[in-house]
Amino acid sequence: MYRTNTCGELRLENLSQQVTLAGWVQKVRNLGAMTFIDLRDRYGITQLVVDDNSSEECKQIAQSLGREYVLQATGTVLERSSKNPKMPTGDIEIGVSSLKVLNAADTPPFTIEDNSDGGDELRMRYRYLDLRRNPLKNALMLRHRMAQVTRNFLDGENFMEIETPYMINSTPEGARDFLVPSRLNPGKFYALPQSPQTFKQLLMVAGYDRYFQIVRCFRDEDLRADRQPEFTQIDCEMAFVEQEDVLNVFERFAKTLFKEVLGVEIAYDFPRMPWSVAMEKYGSDKPDIRFGMEFNDITADVKGKDFVVFDSAEYVGAIVAEGCAGYTRKQIDGLTEFVKRPQVGAKGLVWIRIEEGGIKSSIDKFYTPEELSALAEKCGAKAGDLILILAGEKKQTLSALNVLRLEMGDRLGLRDPKKFAPLWVVDFPLLEWDEETQRFYAMHHPFTSPKPEDIEFMDSDPGKVRANAYDFVCNGVEVGGGSVRIFDRELQQKMFKLLGFTAEQAEAQFGFLMNAFRYGAPPHAGIAFGFDRFCSLFGGSDSIRDYIAFPKNNQGRDVMVDSPTTIDPAQLVELGIELKEVAE
Ligand code: ASP
Repeated sequence: MYRTNTCGELRLENLSQQVTLAGWVQKVRNLGAMTFIDLRDRYGITQLVVDDNSSEECKQIAQSLGREYVLQATGTVLERSSKNPKMPTGDIEIGVSSLKVLNAADTPPFTIEDNSDGGDELRMRYRYLDLRRNPLKNALMLRHRMAQVTRNFLDGENFMEIETPYMINSTPEGARDFLVPSRLNPGKFYALPQSPQTFKQLLMVAGYDRYFQIVRCFRDEDLRADRQPEFTQIDCEMAFVEQEDVLNVFERFAKTLFKEVLGVEIAYDFPRMPWSVAMEKYGSDKPDIRFGMEFNDITADVKGKDFVVFDSAEYVGAIVAEGCAGYTRKQIDGLTEFVKRPQVGAKGLVWIRIEEGGIKSSIDKFYTPEELSALAEKCGAKAGDLILILAGEKKQTLSALNVLRLEMGDRLGLRDPKKFAPLWVVDFPLLEWDEETQRFYAMHHPFTSPKPEDIEFMDSDPGKVRANAYDFVCNGVEVGGGSVRIFDRELQQKMFKLLGFTAEQAEAQFGFLMNAFRYGAPPHAGIAFGFDRFCSLFGGSDSIRDYIAFPKNNQGRDVMVDSPTTIDPAQLVELGIELKEVAE
């Protein structure tokens, strides 16, 4: 037997017990007559003591140890004379009678401490060492717990966990596919699924009316902090339901996760915000409603005073930064620079300070104090507040104002990661017009049902049609999204046509689904949650990487196993693939 106990469990009530522990050497402190060894495993750290009560052999081994050696120690649980209240095992230590090195270790390239001295790249290269550190261990434990609560909840609600294939044909979720060449079918490729969307719909046709899967999905997109080329979804589908049923089940699901994983009780119904309101009030389809600072549309109020910036603007929007009237010139200049960065794209920033003694603004030349007062009142600003205004083309300005609002939220400490403000965003548009390609794209995906009352506009004014689609949003993060599906062949065909598919293209890509719809497709709807994001939200972090055991870096590379990599020419020949020279 390698061990009787873990390094995290012994307490005063175990005094005098004979125990054997196994783990990694965290630290050795040599005090001459005594050597203290901190032994670590997944469960914690226990202090070992080698002193005059230990054998000569033990003492010798204790002298020879280095960091991260794998060690087995047998001894007696003793009460510590100087206790460490910061450690759960801090009241005891093990008086060692026998020590055995199970494996020596090279000195690790960075310290295995909560705050490591290793840079990003180095820690990615030695991910298995990084994973020994508490922050990553805790992140993976959180992920595990969330997966278990998810399975339990969905099982309890009669959802069946069913696996769908990883080698499929393309699914049109809007991103690029990762492709896998087929040796047995030269010149043909599988695609890795961007989501199991069509398969879960086929499962509904097959009669499995509640399905779920915690499933890997693959999208060949440009990477960002919250994106990975392979990521995990909690993917769900239900038959014989309406939007309301899906929202109810998954609102209970989210509440159960909050409660059982974080101990956070959310007693109220999640707000439901129409997409159009989210865009008007927050300039985002994933509003962070932990704080207010909603947009005020002051376009009509500011026109006609010879201020050309406003006169020529399609939209003028204002937010109120509470208590910020005291911002210095330098701070305001900083904000102006911030909104003018290309990523934000505003042309400039107009400000109004509401001070006890009166109003000051960057547009005093054009507006009387009374007019500015009226604006302040309209925006709900009071003495001590600062109004920030952006103007320009509507879509861009809303989006720039969103970035500014979030920045002010950060600066004012209004975005506490321990506070959670979930909501449903509903009534998304069915279609999105793309200027560049001059065509409509599905806002969610082509299988999303229009709202029945809007179907009449599908021919006359497609851009106006709203969808039975919904997102689960929390703290400015889109955690999940789904929709009621089209289950009628004709309507699905019409949708493909709107999206610019010819009948032949639709048949070639989705014939299997259209065919299935001939054989009794039930009404159905579903949702998928980004599991990695859900975990990082719960963990209070912006990066999903920490919640994935072996993630890719910003270039989509795994620097530990060195992938992607070139392959043997013989393999290529076998696959019938010819490579053009690519520049390094
Ligand atoms: N397949 C969709 C997605 O990945 C989710 C859904 O509609 O269920 O976003």
